Amino acid sequence: MNPGLEGGCACGALRYRLASKAMFVHCCHCRDCQRQTGSAFVINALIETDRVEILSGETEAVPVPTDSSRPHVIHRCKTCGTAVWSHYGGNQPLAFVRVGTLDEPSALPPDVHIYTRSKLPWIVLPAGVPAFEAYYDSKNLWPPESLARRKAIFG
Ligand SMILES: [Zn+2]
Ligand SMILES: [Zn+2]
Repeated sequence: MNPGLEGGCACGALRYRLASKAMFVHCCHCRDCQRQTGSAFVINALIETDRVEILSGETEAVPVPTDSSRPHVIHRCKTCGTAVWSHYGGNQPLAFVRVGTLDEPSALPPDVHIYTRSKLPWIVLPAGVPAFEAYYDSKNLWPPESLARRKAIFG
């Protein structure tokens, strides 16, 4: 998890930089993420929103309906609509950055696979990476430093 990773949208108008390393990286196989990406899963790097520095361009916040009816707001490049990060449950201080928009997505491999109950059957999960049918208890899995960072934003 390297600090200083940069990423951007498809049209190049929006560029951003992660000022810190990610707290944790989710690979989510839920149906919402499958629909929103048109793919098998999404990879989200969890980081403080104020550590996502916009270098150029602007995002537009677009709320999307969810199966759980928890609020989910996706930030998209205002020009081309690429989804770059989002906020769940109205938690603005915590950003879920879409790892596929990084210049080097391989820099942030998943720390956990979640909602594997709707994982597409042809995906084989790597051995040694924790996987859960639904959500999980971060207290058991996150490094203490990451738990402290989350506590710092949520109290
Ligand atoms: Zn764009
Ligand atoms: Zn999901």
